[in-house]
Amino acid sequence: MLIGAGIMSATLGTMLKQLDPGFRIEIFERLEEAATESSDAWNNAGTGHSAFCELNYTPEQPDGSIDTSKAVKIAESFEQSKQFWAYLVQQGIIDVPADFIHSIPHMSFVWGEDNVRYLKKRHAALTECHLFRGMQYTEDASEIRSWAPLLLADRSSTDPVAATKMDLGTDVNFGALTRSLFECLRKSDGVNAHFNHEVLDLQQQDGFWQVRVKDVATGEKSTVEAPFVFIGAGGGSLPLLLKSGIPEGKGFGGFPVSGQWLRCTNEEVIAQHEAKVYGTAAVGAPPMSVPHLDTRWIKGKRELLFGPYAGFTTRFLKHGSVLDLFRSIKLSNLVPMISAGLHNIPLTKYLIEQVRLTPEARLDALRGYYPAARAEDWELAIAGYRVQVIKKDEDEGGILEFGTEVVSNDEGSIAALLGASPGASTAVSIMLGLLGRCFPQQMAEEAWKQKLRMMVPSYGRSLGKDAALCSEMRAYTGRVLGIPQAAPGAAS
Ligand SMILES: Cc1cc2nc3c(=O)[nH]c(=O)nc-3n(C[C@H](O)[C@H](O)[C@H](O)COP(=O)(O)OP(=O)(O)OC[C@H]3O[C@@H](n4cnc5c(N)ncnc54)[C@H](O)[C@@H]3O)c2cc1C
Repeated sequence: MLIGAGIMSATLGTMLKQLDPGFRIEIFERLEEAATESSDAWNNAGTGHSAFCELNYTPEQPDGSIDTSKAVKIAESFEQSKQFWAYLVQQGIIDVPADFIHSIPHMSFVWGEDNVRYLKKRHAALTECHLFRGMQYTEDASEIRSWAPLLLADRSSTDPVAATKMDLGTDVNFGALTRSLFECLRKSDGVNAHFNHEVLDLQQQDGFWQVRVKDVATGEKSTVEAPFVFIGAGGGSLPLLLKSGIPEGKGFGGFPVSGQWLRCTNEEVIAQHEAKVYGTAAVGAPPMSVPHLDTRWIKGKRELLFGPYAGFTTRFLKHGSVLDLFRSIKLSNLVPMISAGLHNIPLTKYLIEQVRLTPEARLDALRGYYPAARAEDWELAIAGYRVQVIKKDEDEGGILEFGTEVVSNDEGSIAALLGASPGASTAVSIMLGLLGRCFPQQMAEEAWKQKLRMMVPSYGRSLGKDAALCSEMRAYTGRVLGIPQAAPGAAS
């Protein structure tokens, strides 16, 4: 059983059906369509996270060096996603790759001496690894202007500026991708998708999960039995994990963060920008609310957005309840939740301030990246919600984490995905890890291994260590998905 019809369930369901076409899969989604929460195009930024431009993946160490380990892991994961998508195109499961993936340069842009020094060091550290070779660096304003003119238009400051640009970047419409995967799943034998069906509760009995489901339209409740359950309910995963009662889920809590964008409505401005430009986070800001000025491709049209402005909320889903946070507080997670809250007062303060931002303050933040921005060219849009993971911690009582976490029981009959960063881009590697935990026997069998190598040809090998494999895979995915096969200058 798959709970939730977002990118995570879509990816797992498609993988399982490819690995064993005989599997019966029941999908339950509380809303009337797939990809209506975080996975919808306008609810996320659509960045194919490869750590080319996101500065929070390359922290500066106390000794001044740059830690690139997270960046390498994320870049490898995204390469695996591209391989799986290329396989799906070749199988005819996805018709037209341009419906969901586009090539777009990924840039980082900073100002101020300290930030320029950091970006230069980051570029030097990253380009030691072949995954990032071909990334360009400049402190020359006219070169930055040629890459992304809006960044420099009317910029009066005498502050030094610097930018990096990686031409291998992508924009991904995860909503379109999710919907086409469900479309195909629903046509497969043995798959039933139940929309407008909310999962209320689940208990294990005699080796099976008894899942209580409500038909949202009629209010009718029923119980469905399943030997394996994936809780891919996005923000709704934590409450269901806690209800499952598995010991591995005890102590987990959630910290919800809402999001808003400024969406450009002026076609002339949209046409002048062709990049995803990430900057540095404000003091106290959560790492996932690093501001960025993003070109998007949605429904065949080029768009431009800026944000996200994160905010304080008590809802776990965009279509959730204001009581979500309070209902998630249990005796088992009370201490971690309170401790994480006490340790993150600056974050809470930042989020409350963000909610109260005036339109002028929002425009000021945008002008950091596009100084000539005019209020009349932008409208406010509501983004998706994220529930950051709160975990038990021996020393601190509870800690707030910004990554994703798969929680499963010992026997692998249930798994839940918590957290949302780096998110959809890494769905394939997350699901490969989940399969290893929940289907260990089949994963060890030659039949599954062979199929996995067809779906993700680099499966079991390291793209971060093997430069030749990385070039080969990028050439393959680039050719099939219609995106660049290598970064210019990457070979040197
Ligand atoms: C502002 C923002 C920007 C982001 N930017 C990026 C980005 O640039 N790149 C990137 O890779 N990722 C990004 N992400 C993260 C990415 O969007 C998520 O990681 C991903 O969409 C999560 O997919 P999911 O399937 O887990 O959840 P969702 O897409 O939220 O799907 C969960 C589904 O479960 C359903 N559900 C919930 N509870 C129940 C229940 N009880 N019963 C039945 N159904 C239920 C929901 O209705 C929903 O349809 C961003 C997220 C946000 C919020």
